[in-house]
Amino acid sequence: MQDNKNFDAWDREHLWHPYTSTIDPLPCYKVVSASGCRIRLADGTDLIDGMSSWWAVIHGYNNPAINEAANNQLHKMSHVMFGGLTHEPAIELGKLLLAMAPERMHNIFYADSGSVAVEVAMKMAVQASVSRSGSHAKTNFLTVRSGYHGDTWNAMSVCDPVTGMHGAFGSALPVRFFADAPEIPFDGEWKPEAIQPIESLIRANAGTLAAVILEPIVQGAGGMRFYHPQYLRELRRICDELGIYLIFDEIATGFWRTGRCFACEHAGVTPDIMCIGKGLTAGYMTMSAVLTTKEVADTISRGEAGVMMHGPTFMANPMACAIAIASLRLLNAQDMKCRIAHIETEIKRHIYAAAKLPDVKDVRVLGAIGVIEMNDPVNVGIFQRKCVEHGIWVRPFGRNVYIMPPYIITDEDLQTLITGMIDIISEPLK
Ligand SMILES: *Cc1c(COP(=O)(O)O)cnc(C)c1O
Repeated sequence: MQDNKNFDAWDREHLWHPYTSTIDPLPCYKVVSASGCRIRLADGTDLIDGMSSWWAVIHGYNNPAINEAANNQLHKMSHVMFGGLTHEPAIELGKLLLAMAPERMHNIFYADSGSVAVEVAMKMAVQASVSRSGSHAKTNFLTVRSGYHGDTWNAMSVCDPVTGMHGAFGSALPVRFFADAPEIPFDGEWKPEAIQPIESLIRANAGTLAAVILEPIVQGAGGMRFYHPQYLRELRRICDELGIYLIFDEIATGFWRTGRCFACEHAGVTPDIMCIGKGLTAGYMTMSAVLTTKEVADTISRGEAGVMMHGPTFMANPMACAIAIASLRLLNAQDMKCRIAHIETEIKRHIYAAAKLPDVKDVRVLGAIGVIEMNDPVNVGIFQRKCVEHGIWVRPFGRNVYIMPPYIITDEDLQTLITGMIDIISEPLK
């Protein structure tokens, strides 16, 4: 295998890849370039990308408009500290974001990655809660099972306690409250009693809670589950009544992935604090942001510290801002609702053929996300070898084989991608 041009023995020996063993690492294919919806391997094989490099590359690779924006910014300044200084890319990006975000969003904190945005959002909730109540009693968090919020310490603490990091880190993690995952599917029939379990848990612990944190509508890496918008409306009502902040993690769902600019629009619910990342910079650079209301921001500023206690070195990096501006302009120049509705129709046209396979438990589609849930966990190494043979790129996780392709994908590529994926799961994985 190591003689193959697509593998690198030095990499295998020395480089950690995500969630990887040093003793028995899964193969990693060497990429030499990527363009549009294609990833090119070292031996010249082209793969149709089904992953948008984990939700990020929404406009495809090597986009001319974004390349130009990056180039222009590079020659002005690649970075400058954000303490005591500001710049046009940060301001322009902020204006674009507030124009797209739910109405009450008013203040923006730029951060480095999705996980850091979650840390910042949780710190905001604690600072605001302490300032508002004048006591340190309400500083804990409640979330739902099957969630994913990132890999840093506090983000880990609100990931699913079974499939997440709790096994490996145990008592090193802060203890949070977990309600069962929302049960009623996105297009299912709402039942008032569906909110009961989480409502009881929130009420029983209201005196200790700063915030409820969850991914709106789509639970991503924790299970690829799509749940009913009414769940969010009920949570908004409960949190308002009890004086608990509501944090939406839109890092995966933001920027039209679910068919709305932000997933919370399906419910017409605005959070108090919202995290965005991934698609924000179209997969060019790492950057995230936390948006919040004027009420939360000013409450923090009236508190003991008097300021928001966070300040990353690379805050509002001008290159990342310039790239994000170019990406948002591309989104704003199109009828994205219509574009995503089209992708959704095309995914549905091909993917439901998987539903009749004996090893398939469920097939579901929302916006530009298609999921095939298997009865058993999928062997990633074998699956990916077969992907390369089929000229497609899909990375399953647990029992889910899923795609969230770049928005520029052609109908033809989408069909090749989905039929390839179904071919692979139709045969025993060996
Ligand atoms: C990916 C993801 C994160 C973490 O983002 P990183 O940039 O990987 O740190 C947090 N929340 C959700 C919902 C995500 O999908």
